[in-house]
Amino acid sequence: MNRKPRITVAGAGALGLTTALALADAGAQVAVYDPSPEGTNASAVAAGMLAPVFEAVLDAAATPHFDLLLAARDLWPALEARIGVTIDRAGALAVGDPAFLGRVDAGIRRLGLHPTELPRRALEGLAPGLSPDWREGLLTREDWRIDAAATLGALRAAAESAGVTFHARAADGFEGGERLVIATGMGRDLGVIAPSLARLSPIKGHILRVAGPAYGGGVVRGEGAYVTADAGGLTLGATMQAGVEDLAVEPERVAPLMAAGTRLFPSLAVGRATPQTGVRAATPDGLPMVGRGRHHGVLLAVGARRNGWLLAPLVAKIIAACVTEGDVGPYAARLDPGRFDNT
Ligand SMILES: Cc1cc2nc3c(=O)[nH]c(=O)nc-3n(C[C@H](O)[C@H](O)[C@H](O)COP(=O)(O)OP(=O)(O)OC[C@H]3O[C@@H](n4cnc5c(N)ncnc54)[C@H](O)[C@@H]3O)c2cc1C
Repeated sequence: MNRKPRITVAGAGALGLTTALALADAGAQVAVYDPSPEGTNASAVAAGMLAPVFEAVLDAAATPHFDLLLAARDLWPALEARIGVTIDRAGALAVGDPAFLGRVDAGIRRLGLHPTELPRRALEGLAPGLSPDWREGLLTREDWRIDAAATLGALRAAAESAGVTFHARAADGFEGGERLVIATGMGRDLGVIAPSLARLSPIKGHILRVAGPAYGGGVVRGEGAYVTADAGGLTLGATMQAGVEDLAVEPERVAPLMAAGTRLFPSLAVGRATPQTGVRAATPDGLPMVGRGRHHGVLLAVGARRNGWLLAPLVAKIIAACVTEGDVGPYAARLDPGRFDNT
């Protein structure tokens, strides 16, 4: 870049921060706006799974896009090195009744992969405390995990070191930038300059942080719940409530999630569980809208649904390429915000 373009990024979640850093690294002068205190957006409550395989197997909307999810995951090691976080590569384990495991096995094989079938004695090492009810499991090492809250902090610190400025208020428009990247999650304040935001719909999610002894195992996926390690014990997720946008904790949603989690790890029943909620932004086809908007100078980075953390480096790469007139790569067409314009 000959002259530093001035870019405004609206939103300091996973997509906004990763994009801001990529733009700064590409030579842009970047200002990030976000009115909310840290730790209240969807990115902060997320489980941090980087899970191309189990997302493609367990979520029908993701199944056709395994290649894209995998390509996004493959960009993570460079981001890991850039911002100094550690990716947990222990893998992810599915446990459940034979019918569930049969579906998972078939789904993984349809992706061209071979799950590792594990007997009971191997499960203990990979998932200490797992219920003895589960006699076998299926492991993939392709799914990874990051600590979402720590990664948000590391992204912000790296962005600040790269010269990005932060402003604790909403962006009303371009805020003096030549381009505006809209990475506002489910926020639609900027809908006048980005009409495509009207295509987003909310999916509320509950997730529980269960205090207790450190869990040193990998991600466990069961029917109706998953469990991951976290700084204070375990994370148990997550509900999917399509069309719901409020952040209120609903005890009637927490109870079945806790019941499904306790079937995986009985000790969860006695842990102190703190419920959190977040709202995922989803598009009609389950993929985010990434790239140029309809109005000159507007770029979109929204709608990552269940996989905002996984997709963040791919989103950032495409937006940076749009700004630098570089190669947007093979996945940009599938993510083009204009794809819904005539539907
Ligand atoms: C319970 C739960 C578990 C999840 N687990 C995972 C997981 O394991 N792996 C994974 O990959 N994904 C997961 N996700 C999905 C992931 O969290 C989202 O896809 C991702 O966080 C979206 O990031 P974002 O930056 O688009 O939005 P957000 O994180 O919502 O950030 C948007 C930001 O924009 C700000 N904003 C809004 N309006 C404006 C404005 N006008 N100006 C400036 N700023 C504005 C908001 O304050 C907010 O901080 C999970 C989601 C939930 C709810």
